[in-house]
Amino acid sequence: MNLLAGIEREAVVDDGRIVVWLPGPCEGKARWWERVGNVAGAPVSEREGLCATPATLIRARQQPRGLLGKALSWWRQSAGAAEWLLPNGAKAEQVGERVTDVLLAWTEDSEPLQESRVRERWPTAQRIQRLGSHLFLVTGVQLAAAPPPPKLPPGTPVEQAAYLVDWARKSGDRRREATALTDLGVALLRANEPTKAVAVLHDALAIARDQQDLQTESDVLGNLGLAHVALKDAGRALECFQRQLDLTRDTGDHYEEKMAQTNLGHLYAALRDHANALAAYDQALALAEALADENHQAELFWAQAIQYAELGRSAEVETLGRQAIALFTKLGNPQVHQLVEALEKFRQDAAQVPSLAGFDPQTGQPLGLLFGSWNVGTVAATPIPAATPPSAPSLMRMAYTAVTSLAKFVGAGMTTVAPAVQHKRLQTCAVCEHHTGLRCKLCGCFTHLKSLMPHERCPIAKWPA
Ligand code: SF4
Repeated sequence: MNLLAGIEREAVVDDGRIVVWLPGPCEGKARWWERVGNVAGAPVSEREGLCATPATLIRARQQPRGLLGKALSWWRQSAGAAEWLLPNGAKAEQVGERVTDVLLAWTEDSEPLQESRVRERWPTAQRIQRLGSHLFLVTGVQLAAAPPPPKLPPGTPVEQAAYLVDWARKSGDRRREATALTDLGVALLRANEPTKAVAVLHDALAIARDQQDLQTESDVLGNLGLAHVALKDAGRALECFQRQLDLTRDTGDHYEEKMAQTNLGHLYAALRDHANALAAYDQALALAEALADENHQAELFWAQAIQYAELGRSAEVETLGRQAIALFTKLGNPQVHQLVEALEKFRQDAAQVPSLAGFDPQTGQPLGLLFGSWNVGTVAATPIPAATPPSAPSLMRMAYTAVTSLAKFVGAGMTTVAPAVQHKRLQTCAVCEHHTGLRCKLCGCFTHLKSLMPHERCPIAKWPA
Protein backbone atom coordinates (compact mmCIF):
# COMPACT_ATOMS: atom_id res chain seq x y z
CA MET A 1 0.00 0.00 0.00
CA ASN A 2 1.44 3.42 -1.01
CA LEU A 3 1.85 5.78 1.95
CA LEU A 4 2.42 9.52 1.78
CA ALA A 5 5.98 10.76 2.26
CA GLY A 6 6.94 11.07 5.94
CA ILE A 7 4.53 8.38 7.16
CA GLU A 8 6.47 5.43 8.58
CA ARG A 9 5.22 1.87 8.63
CA GLU A 10 5.91 -0.14 11.78
CA ALA A 11 7.03 -3.75 11.32
CA VAL A 12 4.39 -6.08 12.85
CA VAL A 13 4.33 -9.86 13.09
CA ASP A 14 0.62 -10.21 12.27
CA ASP A 15 0.25 -9.71 8.52
CA GLY A 16 -3.45 -8.88 9.02
CA ARG A 17 -2.40 -5.65 10.70
CA ILE A 18 -1.15 -2.30 9.51
CA VAL A 19 0.49 0.12 11.95
CA VAL A 20 1.75 3.49 10.78
CA TRP A 21 3.39 6.49 12.45
CA LEU A 22 2.26 9.94 11.33
CA PRO A 23 4.73 12.78 11.89
CA GLY A 24 3.34 15.77 13.77
CA PRO A 25 4.67 19.20 14.69
CA CYS A 26 7.91 19.91 16.56
CA GLU A 27 7.81 21.47 20.01
CA GLY A 28 11.20 22.83 20.93
CA LYS A 29 13.51 19.88 20.37
CA ALA A 30 10.75 17.32 20.83
CA ARG A 31 8.65 15.98 17.97
CA TRP A 32 5.04 14.74 18.07
CA TRP A 33 3.93 11.51 16.43
CA GLU A 34 0.68 9.59 16.11
CA ARG A 35 0.63 5.81 15.98
CA VAL A 36 -2.39 4.42 14.14
CA GLY A 37 -3.12 0.72 13.83
CA ASN A 38 -6.12 -1.39 12.92
CA VAL A 39 -7.63 -3.47 15.72
CA ALA A 40 -6.46 -7.10 15.46
CA GLY A 41 -9.28 -9.44 14.46
CA ALA A 42 -11.84 -6.62 14.05
CA PRO A 43 -14.35 -6.99 11.22
CA VAL A 44 -13.95 -5.22 7.89
CA SER A 45 -17.10 -3.61 6.54
CA GLU A 46 -17.48 -2.93 2.85
CA ARG A 47 -20.01 -0.75 1.06
CA GLU A 48 -19.85 0.12 -2.62
CA GLY A 49 -16.18 -0.79 -2.70
CA LEU A 50 -15.21 1.37 0.29
CA CYS A 51 -13.78 -0.77 3.09
CA ALA A 52 -13.36 0.23 6.74
CA THR A 53 -12.14 -1.33 9.94
CA PRO A 54 -11.83 -0.08 13.56
CA ALA A 55 -8.44 1.30 14.56
CA THR A 56 -6.80 2.98 17.53
CA LEU A 57 -4.64 6.07 17.78
CA ILE A 58 -1.92 7.00 20.29
CA ARG A 59 -0.08 10.31 20.54
CA ALA A 60 3.57 10.20 21.47
CA ARG A 61 6.40 12.71 21.90
CA GLN A 62 9.85 11.88 20.60
CA GLN A 63 12.43 13.04 23.11
CA PRO A 64 15.56 14.92 22.10
CA ARG A 65 18.68 12.78 22.12
CA GLY A 66 21.63 13.67 24.33
CA LEU A 67 22.20 13.67 28.05
CA LEU A 68 19.15 15.70 29.00
CA GLY A 69 16.93 13.54 26.78
CA LYS A 70 18.32 10.38 28.34
CA ALA A 71 17.81 11.75 31.84
CA LEU A 72 14.23 12.76 31.04
CA SER A 73 13.61 9.36 29.45
CA TRP A 74 14.82 7.59 32.61
CA TRP A 75 12.67 9.85 34.80
CA ARG A 76 9.54 9.24 32.68
CA GLN A 77 10.04 5.48 32.60
CA SER A 78 10.28 5.43 36.37
CA ALA A 79 7.10 7.53 36.48
CA GLY A 80 5.35 4.79 34.48
CA ALA A 81 4.88 6.57 31.11
CA ALA A 82 4.58 4.11 28.16
CA GLU A 83 7.47 4.30 25.73
CA TRP A 84 7.38 3.37 22.04
CA LEU A 85 10.11 2.54 19.59
CA LEU A 86 9.65 4.55 16.39
CA PRO A 87 10.45 2.96 13.00
CA ASN A 88 13.41 5.39 12.78
CA GLY A 89 14.91 3.80 15.92
CA ALA A 90 14.16 6.73 18.25
CA LYS A 91 12.00 6.45 21.34
CA ALA A 92 8.78 8.29 21.99
CA GLU A 93 6.75 8.66 25.15
CA GLN A 94 2.98 8.16 25.02
CA VAL A 95 0.92 11.19 26.00
CA GLY A 96 -2.76 10.77 26.87
CA GLU A 97 -5.08 7.82 26.48
CA ARG A 98 -5.52 5.55 23.47
CA VAL A 99 -8.24 6.96 21.16
CA THR A 100 -10.70 4.32 19.99
CA ASP A 101 -13.28 6.11 17.83
CA VAL A 102 -11.01 5.73 14.82
CA LEU A 103 -11.31 3.93 11.48
CA LEU A 104 -9.02 3.10 8.62
CA ALA A 105 -10.82 3.38 5.29
CA TRP A 106 -9.52 2.21 1.92
CA THR A 107 -10.42 0.92 -1.52
CA GLU A 108 -8.89 -1.67 -3.75
CA ASP A 109 -9.79 0.28 -6.89
CA SER A 110 -7.06 1.12 -9.35
CA GLU A 111 -7.97 4.82 -9.04
CA PRO A 112 -6.86 6.74 -5.92
CA LEU A 113 -9.53 7.09 -3.23
CA GLN A 114 -11.10 10.57 -3.25
CA GLU A 115 -11.57 12.39 0.05
CA SER A 116 -15.11 13.43 -0.97
CA ARG A 117 -16.11 9.77 -1.05
CA VAL A 118 -14.84 9.23 2.51
CA ARG A 119 -16.51 12.42 3.70
CA GLU A 120 -19.80 11.39 2.16
CA ARG A 121 -19.68 8.04 3.99
CA TRP A 122 -18.76 9.61 7.38
CA PRO A 123 -20.20 13.14 7.21
CA THR A 124 -19.90 13.63 10.97
CA ALA A 125 -16.26 12.55 11.26
CA GLN A 126 -14.06 14.86 13.32
CA ARG A 127 -11.03 14.34 11.13
CA ILE A 128 -10.44 12.77 7.74
CA GLN A 129 -6.79 12.54 6.72
CA ARG A 130 -5.21 10.96 3.69
CA LEU A 131 -2.48 8.43 4.59
CA GLY A 132 -1.89 7.08 1.13
CA SER A 133 -3.32 7.05 -2.36
CA HIS A 134 -5.95 4.51 -1.31
CA LEU A 135 -5.97 4.86 2.49
CA PHE A 136 -7.58 7.36 4.91
CA LEU A 137 -7.69 7.90 8.65
CA VAL A 138 -11.15 8.80 9.99
CA THR A 139 -11.69 9.85 13.61
CA GLY A 140 -14.71 10.68 15.74
CA VAL A 141 -16.78 7.78 14.45
CA GLN A 142 -17.56 4.25 15.58
CA LEU A 143 -17.83 1.32 13.19
CA ALA A 144 -20.39 -1.16 14.43
CA ALA A 145 -18.77 -0.81 17.84
CA ALA A 146 -22.09 -1.56 19.46
CA PRO A 147 -24.96 -3.72 18.27
CA PRO A 148 -27.87 -1.86 16.68
CA PRO A 149 -30.70 -0.93 19.06
CA PRO A 150 -33.29 -3.65 19.66
CA LYS A 151 -36.54 -3.92 17.68
CA LEU A 152 -38.99 -1.56 19.28
CA PRO A 153 -42.18 -2.85 20.90
CA PRO A 154 -45.46 -1.25 19.78
CA GLY A 155 -46.34 1.90 21.69
CA THR A 156 -46.16 5.67 21.64
CA PRO A 157 -42.81 7.37 20.88
CA VAL A 158 -42.51 8.17 24.61
CA GLU A 159 -42.99 4.50 25.54
CA GLN A 160 -40.58 3.36 22.86
CA ALA A 161 -37.94 5.89 23.92
CA ALA A 162 -38.35 4.79 27.57
CA TYR A 163 -37.79 1.21 26.40
CA LEU A 164 -34.55 2.28 24.70
CA VAL A 165 -33.37 4.06 27.87
CA ASP A 166 -34.01 0.90 29.87
CA TRP A 167 -32.20 -1.23 27.29
CA ALA A 168 -29.17 1.11 27.25
CA ARG A 169 -28.98 1.11 31.05
CA LYS A 170 -29.13 -2.68 31.20
CA SER A 171 -26.38 -2.96 28.60
CA GLY A 172 -24.24 -0.49 30.61
CA ASP A 173 -23.58 1.62 27.52
CA ARG A 174 -23.45 5.22 28.80
CA ARG A 175 -23.24 6.82 25.34
CA ARG A 176 -26.30 4.89 24.24
CA GLU A 177 -28.05 5.93 27.42
CA ALA A 178 -27.40 9.61 26.62
CA THR A 179 -28.78 9.11 23.09
CA ALA A 180 -31.84 7.21 24.34
CA LEU A 181 -32.53 9.91 26.95
CA THR A 182 -32.33 12.48 24.15
CA ASP A 183 -34.90 10.47 22.18
CA LEU A 184 -37.09 10.41 25.28
CA GLY A 185 -36.71 14.17 25.71
CA VAL A 186 -37.66 14.77 22.07
CA ALA A 187 -40.65 12.41 22.33
CA LEU A 188 -41.84 14.20 25.51
CA LEU A 189 -41.45 17.55 23.81
CA ARG A 190 -43.54 16.42 20.87
CA ALA A 191 -46.12 15.03 23.32
CA ASN A 192 -46.37 18.59 24.69
CA GLU A 193 -44.53 17.82 27.94
CA PRO A 194 -41.71 20.41 27.77
CA THR A 195 -41.02 20.51 31.53
CA LYS A 196 -40.45 16.75 31.66
CA ALA A 197 -38.43 17.00 28.44
CA VAL A 198 -36.08 19.56 30.01
CA ALA A 199 -35.44 17.29 33.03
CA VAL A 200 -34.67 14.26 30.85
CA LEU A 201 -32.49 16.26 28.46
CA HIS A 202 -30.45 17.58 31.38
CA ASP A 203 -29.75 13.95 32.39
CA ALA A 204 -28.68 13.23 28.81
CA LEU A 205 -26.45 16.32 28.80
CA ALA A 206 -24.69 15.27 32.02
CA ILE A 207 -23.86 11.84 30.58
CA ALA A 208 -22.74 13.21 27.21
CA ARG A 209 -20.40 15.62 28.97
CA ASP A 210 -19.12 12.93 31.30
CA GLN A 211 -18.37 10.75 28.26
CA GLN A 212 -16.85 13.71 26.38
CA ASP A 213 -19.22 12.82 23.55
CA LEU A 214 -19.37 16.18 21.76
CA GLN A 215 -21.74 15.03 19.04
CA THR A 216 -24.36 13.78 21.48
CA GLU A 217 -23.88 16.90 23.60
CA SER A 218 -24.62 19.02 20.56
CA ASP A 219 -27.72 16.92 19.70
CA VAL A 220 -28.96 17.27 23.29
CA LEU A 221 -28.38 21.02 23.35
CA GLY A 222 -30.37 21.57 20.16
CA ASN A 223 -33.34 19.72 21.60
CA LEU A 224 -32.96 21.33 25.02
CA GLY A 225 -33.10 24.70 23.29
CA LEU A 226 -36.35 23.67 21.57
CA ALA A 227 -37.78 22.58 24.95
CA HIS A 228 -36.95 26.05 26.33
CA VAL A 229 -38.64 27.57 23.29
CA ALA A 230 -41.76 25.57 24.17
CA LEU A 231 -41.47 26.94 27.73
CA LYS A 232 -41.12 30.45 26.30
CA ASP A 233 -37.70 30.89 27.85
CA ALA A 234 -35.85 32.64 25.05
CA GLY A 235 -32.72 33.37 27.10
CA ARG A 236 -32.04 29.71 27.88
CA ALA A 237 -33.02 28.64 24.36
CA LEU A 238 -30.50 31.09 22.92
CA GLU A 239 -27.76 29.83 25.26
CA CYS A 240 -28.40 26.23 24.18
CA PHE A 241 -28.44 27.00 20.44
CA GLN A 242 -25.28 29.10 20.64
CA ARG A 243 -23.45 26.42 22.60
CA GLN A 244 -24.68 23.83 20.07
CA LEU A 245 -23.27 25.96 17.29
CA ASP A 246 -19.89 26.33 19.06
CA LEU A 247 -19.69 22.57 19.50
CA THR A 248 -20.46 21.83 15.88
CA ARG A 249 -17.58 24.06 14.87
CA ASP A 250 -15.32 21.95 17.11
CA THR A 251 -16.62 18.64 15.77
CA GLY A 252 -16.88 19.80 12.15
CA ASP A 253 -20.38 18.30 11.95
CA HIS A 254 -22.02 20.37 9.22
CA TYR A 255 -25.42 18.68 9.56
CA GLU A 256 -25.60 19.64 13.21
CA GLU A 257 -24.29 23.12 12.42
CA LYS A 258 -27.09 23.51 9.87
CA MET A 259 -29.62 22.53 12.53
CA ALA A 260 -28.12 24.93 15.07
CA GLN A 261 -28.30 27.83 12.59
CA THR A 262 -31.88 26.91 11.70
CA ASN A 263 -32.84 26.76 15.40
CA LEU A 264 -31.25 30.17 15.94
CA GLY A 265 -33.10 31.53 12.91
CA HIS A 266 -36.45 30.24 14.25
CA LEU A 267 -35.73 31.69 17.68
CA TYR A 268 -34.80 35.13 16.33
CA ALA A 269 -37.86 34.96 14.08
CA ALA A 270 -40.02 34.33 17.15
CA LEU A 271 -38.33 37.30 18.83
CA ARG A 272 -39.07 39.47 15.78
CA ASP A 273 -35.37 40.06 15.32
CA HIS A 274 -35.54 39.89 11.54
CA ALA A 275 -31.91 40.81 10.88
CA ASN A 276 -30.49 38.04 13.06
CA ALA A 277 -33.12 35.57 11.86
CA LEU A 278 -32.18 36.23 8.23
CA ALA A 279 -28.46 36.02 9.01
CA ALA A 280 -28.89 32.63 10.74
CA TYR A 281 -31.12 31.32 7.93
CA ASP A 282 -28.48 32.47 5.42
CA GLN A 283 -25.81 30.43 7.19
CA ALA A 284 -28.10 27.40 7.35
CA LEU A 285 -28.95 27.79 3.68
CA ALA A 286 -25.29 27.84 2.65
CA LEU A 287 -24.75 24.60 4.57
CA ALA A 288 -27.92 22.99 3.14
CA GLU A 289 -26.68 23.87 -0.33
CA ALA A 290 -23.21 22.47 0.33
CA LEU A 291 -24.77 19.26 1.70
CA ALA A 292 -27.20 19.04 -1.24
CA ASP A 293 -30.15 18.93 1.17
CA GLU A 294 -32.87 20.28 -1.10
CA ASN A 295 -35.71 19.73 1.32
CA HIS A 296 -34.01 21.88 3.93
CA GLN A 297 -33.11 24.47 1.30
CA ALA A 298 -36.78 24.75 0.33
CA GLU A 299 -37.80 25.14 3.99
CA LEU A 300 -35.20 27.84 4.51
CA PHE A 301 -36.23 29.78 1.39
CA TRP A 302 -39.75 29.88 2.77
CA ALA A 303 -38.59 30.76 6.30
CA GLN A 304 -36.70 33.73 4.85
CA ALA A 305 -39.71 34.71 2.74
CA ILE A 306 -41.75 34.91 5.98
CA GLN A 307 -39.19 37.31 7.47
CA TYR A 308 -39.32 39.55 4.40
CA ALA A 309 -43.12 39.38 4.44
CA GLU A 310 -43.06 40.68 8.01
CA LEU A 311 -40.74 43.46 6.86
CA GLY A 312 -43.08 44.24 3.97
CA ARG A 313 -40.36 43.62 1.35
CA SER A 314 -42.37 42.21 -1.53
CA ALA A 315 -39.60 41.68 -4.06
CA GLU A 316 -37.66 39.33 -1.74
CA VAL A 317 -40.86 37.50 -0.73
CA GLU A 318 -41.66 36.90 -4.37
CA THR A 319 -38.17 35.59 -5.23
CA LEU A 320 -37.74 33.37 -2.18
CA GLY A 321 -41.35 32.19 -2.25
CA ARG A 322 -40.99 31.08 -5.87
CA GLN A 323 -37.71 29.32 -5.11
CA ALA A 324 -39.33 27.41 -2.22
CA ILE A 325 -42.36 26.45 -4.30
CA ALA A 326 -40.19 25.26 -7.20
CA LEU A 327 -38.07 23.06 -4.92
CA PHE A 328 -40.98 21.63 -2.92
CA THR A 329 -42.75 20.87 -6.22
CA LYS A 330 -39.66 19.13 -7.57
CA LEU A 331 -39.46 17.06 -4.39
CA GLY A 332 -43.14 16.09 -4.65
CA ASN A 333 -44.30 17.70 -1.41
CA PRO A 334 -48.10 17.13 -1.36
CA GLN A 335 -48.79 20.33 0.58
CA VAL A 336 -47.07 22.71 -1.82
CA HIS A 337 -50.43 24.16 -2.91
CA GLN A 338 -50.62 25.81 0.53
CA LEU A 339 -47.45 27.77 -0.27
CA VAL A 340 -48.88 28.79 -3.64
CA GLU A 341 -52.07 30.04 -1.98
CA ALA A 342 -50.16 31.88 0.77
CA LEU A 343 -47.92 33.60 -1.77
CA GLU A 344 -50.95 34.64 -3.80
CA LYS A 345 -52.56 36.03 -0.63
CA PHE A 346 -49.35 37.97 0.05
CA ARG A 347 -49.39 39.46 -3.44
CA GLN A 348 -52.99 40.61 -2.98
CA ASP A 349 -52.30 41.96 0.47
CA ALA A 350 -48.69 43.08 0.13
CA ALA A 351 -49.06 46.20 2.22
CA GLN A 352 -50.59 44.44 5.21
CA VAL A 353 -48.75 45.05 8.51
CA PRO A 354 -47.69 41.79 10.20
CA SER A 355 -49.76 40.92 13.23
CA LEU A 356 -48.08 37.86 14.73
CA ALA A 357 -44.50 37.07 15.59
CA GLY A 358 -42.88 33.75 14.77
CA PHE A 359 -44.00 30.19 15.30
CA ASP A 360 -43.16 27.23 17.43
CA PRO A 361 -40.66 25.12 15.45
CA GLN A 362 -42.01 21.94 17.10
CA THR A 363 -45.75 22.43 16.71
CA GLY A 364 -45.90 25.10 14.05
CA GLN A 365 -48.24 27.12 16.28
CA PRO A 366 -47.70 30.88 16.20
CA LEU A 367 -45.69 31.95 19.24
CA GLY A 368 -46.62 35.58 19.01
CA LEU A 369 -49.84 35.20 20.97
CA LEU A 370 -47.89 33.89 23.94
CA PHE A 371 -44.78 35.91 23.56
CA GLY A 372 -45.62 38.64 26.06
CA SER A 373 -45.08 36.16 28.93
CA TRP A 374 -41.71 34.79 27.67
CA ASN A 375 -38.71 34.82 29.94
CA VAL A 376 -36.36 36.41 27.46
CA GLY A 377 -33.35 36.80 29.74
CA THR A 378 -30.83 39.02 28.01
CA VAL A 379 -32.69 38.86 24.69
CA ALA A 380 -34.51 42.03 23.74
CA ALA A 381 -38.24 41.42 23.33
CA THR A 382 -40.98 43.33 21.66
CA PRO A 383 -44.49 43.09 23.13
CA ILE A 384 -46.87 41.41 20.75
CA PRO A 385 -50.17 42.96 19.84
CA ALA A 386 -53.40 41.08 20.41
CA ALA A 387 -54.41 38.47 17.85
CA THR A 388 -56.01 39.73 14.66
CA PRO A 389 -57.45 37.87 11.68
CA PRO A 390 -54.76 35.92 9.78
CA SER A 391 -52.50 38.20 7.77
CA ALA A 392 -50.51 37.18 4.69
CA PRO A 393 -47.34 36.50 6.77
CA SER A 394 -49.29 34.35 9.23
CA LEU A 395 -50.79 32.38 6.34
CA MET A 396 -47.24 31.88 5.11
CA ARG A 397 -46.27 30.49 8.53
CA MET A 398 -49.23 28.13 8.47
CA ALA A 399 -48.16 26.98 5.00
CA TYR A 400 -44.63 26.42 6.37
CA THR A 401 -46.08 24.15 9.06
CA ALA A 402 -48.10 22.30 6.44
CA VAL A 403 -45.10 21.49 4.24
CA THR A 404 -42.76 20.55 7.11
CA SER A 405 -44.89 18.61 9.61
CA LEU A 406 -44.66 14.86 9.07
CA ALA A 407 -47.28 14.19 11.74
CA LYS A 408 -49.70 16.45 9.89
CA PHE A 409 -49.16 14.59 6.62
CA VAL A 410 -50.08 11.33 8.27
CA GLY A 411 -52.95 12.93 10.22
CA ALA A 412 -54.33 14.44 7.01
CA GLY A 413 -54.54 10.99 5.41
CA MET A 414 -51.93 11.73 2.71
CA THR A 415 -50.78 8.90 0.45
CA THR A 416 -47.98 6.91 2.05
CA VAL A 417 -45.44 4.52 0.55
CA ALA A 418 -46.12 0.80 0.19
CA PRO A 419 -45.33 -1.23 3.35
CA ALA A 420 -42.45 -2.99 1.54
CA VAL A 421 -40.83 0.36 0.70
CA GLN A 422 -41.18 1.60 4.27
CA HIS A 423 -39.75 -1.68 5.53
CA LYS A 424 -36.66 -1.32 3.33
CA ARG A 425 -36.17 2.28 4.41
CA LEU A 426 -36.45 1.35 8.08
CA GLN A 427 -34.07 -1.58 7.62
CA THR A 428 -31.51 0.85 6.20
CA CYS A 429 -31.99 3.25 9.10
CA ALA A 430 -31.77 0.43 11.67
CA VAL A 431 -28.11 -0.22 10.83
CA CYS A 432 -27.17 3.37 10.05
CA GLU A 433 -24.65 5.06 12.32
CA HIS A 434 -26.81 8.20 12.34
CA HIS A 435 -29.89 6.41 13.71
CA THR A 436 -30.60 6.73 17.41
CA GLY A 437 -33.17 3.92 17.50
CA LEU A 438 -36.04 6.36 16.93
CA ARG A 439 -34.62 9.40 15.15
CA CYS A 440 -32.28 10.27 12.31
CA LYS A 441 -29.64 12.52 13.87
CA LEU A 442 -28.91 14.21 10.55
CA CYS A 443 -32.41 15.60 10.02
CA GLY A 444 -33.93 15.17 13.50
CA CYS A 445 -36.98 13.27 12.17
CA PHE A 446 -38.63 10.23 13.73
CA THR A 447 -37.84 7.65 11.06
CA HIS A 448 -41.06 5.64 11.40
CA LEU A 449 -42.97 8.75 10.23
CA LYS A 450 -40.40 10.04 7.76
CA SER A 451 -40.11 6.64 6.07
CA LEU A 452 -43.86 6.65 5.34
CA MET A 453 -43.72 9.78 3.19
CA PRO A 454 -43.22 9.31 -0.57
CA HIS A 455 -41.54 12.73 -0.93
CA GLU A 456 -39.10 12.29 1.97
CA ARG A 457 -35.43 11.50 1.33
CA CYS A 458 -32.54 10.16 3.37
CA PRO A 459 -30.24 13.20 3.76
CA ILE A 460 -27.26 11.18 2.57
CA ALA A 461 -29.14 9.11 -0.02
CA LYS A 462 -28.84 5.78 1.75
CA TRP A 463 -32.43 4.70 1.24
CA PRO A 464 -32.97 2.30 -1.67
CA ALA A 465 -34.46 4.06 -4.71
S1 SF4 B 1 -32.56 8.66 7.06
FE1 SF4 B 1 -31.97 6.73 8.00
S2 SF4 B 1 -30.39 5.90 6.64
FE2 SF4 B 1 -30.58 8.08 6.17
S3 SF4 B 1 -29.01 9.09 7.45
FE3 SF4 B 1 -30.95 9.13 8.58
S4 SF4 B 1 -30.89 7.31 9.88
FE4 SF4 B 1 -29.33 7.05 8.28
